[in-house]
Amino acid sequence: MRTGLAVLALIGAPLAAPDPAQAQDATPCDYELVVLGAGQDAGAPQIGHADDTGPRLLPSSLALIDRSEGKRYLFDASPAITEQLAMLDGIEPPREGLGVDGVFLTHAHIGHYLGLAYFGREAAGASGVPVFAMPRMIEFLAANGPWSQLVELENISLDALNDRTPRMLPGGLAVTPFAVPHRDEFSETVGLVIHHPDVGSALYLPDIDYWPEEGESNLLLSLLSRVDHVFIDATFWDDNELPGRDMSEIPHPRVTDTMDLLADLPAEARARVHFIHYNHTNPIRDPASAESAEVEARGFSVARRGDRFCL
Ligand SMILES: [Zn+2]
Ligand SMILES: [Zn+2]
Repeated sequence: MRTGLAVLALIGAPLAAPDPAQAQDATPCDYELVVLGAGQDAGAPQIGHADDTGPRLLPSSLALIDRSEGKRYLFDASPAITEQLAMLDGIEPPREGLGVDGVFLTHAHIGHYLGLAYFGREAAGASGVPVFAMPRMIEFLAANGPWSQLVELENISLDALNDRTPRMLPGGLAVTPFAVPHRDEFSETVGLVIHHPDVGSALYLPDIDYWPEEGESNLLLSLLSRVDHVFIDATFWDDNELPGRDMSEIPHPRVTDTMDLLADLPAEARARVHFIHYNHTNPIRDPASAESAEVEARGFSVARRGDRFCL
């Protein structure tokens, strides 16, 4: 993997120590991230698990509210987009229409893009919602129904991103994709770095097969040294999670291993790690579980639907 260094070059110098006064600021910020969902693609309860009484999960998705420009962006379009957008409307109402000024997609697995369908004729009948994705993903959407119909009817407007190349948005925001190892049947898979040079940065990386080494370091460590908030793959807790199945062949870094990898970082850095995209079997799904308490005790946090962060 050679992705990280170039991405890091784009988002500037290592972080300075945090300003405690800023961290305490409770007034609405100009740039706010909202966690719209924190589950794996299938959410929870999963199909076929009617007896599952655990906490409900919607598939992972983030929103970014840019109050200075009056814009709202989505990161992934999950099958629960109707409910997720309604939640966002409750926090920051749309200026007009749907009020979605751009959707950035990570990849073509069901939790991450099926929600695009709701921009179409049978639902919102939206007009020209910009959809930003990598070139293979764009080709997949343009060439296959029902997505191709959204393009033909101009409900959405496709805009190709390039690996490690920032996409500038109005007001100084930029979003930079970088390719990561994952099961790429229909599209590339990317992490997305959201960055404003005067404000801050965040990483959305819901799916990755493993943390690749990069030069002297590791991709995650490199990213964490320069990004304010990282929302990262927490699909599985550990290798004992799927009883009766040999998990050694199942990808995704385990939450326990990721915490071990980051254990020696200062508390301030660990506090910027937010675990997201957890499977219905992952015990951190339950805020009251021993595993959720362990994550907190080790200085990390579990992203929960409704969480809000100033960029
Ligand atoms: Zn996923
Ligand atoms: Zn995936």
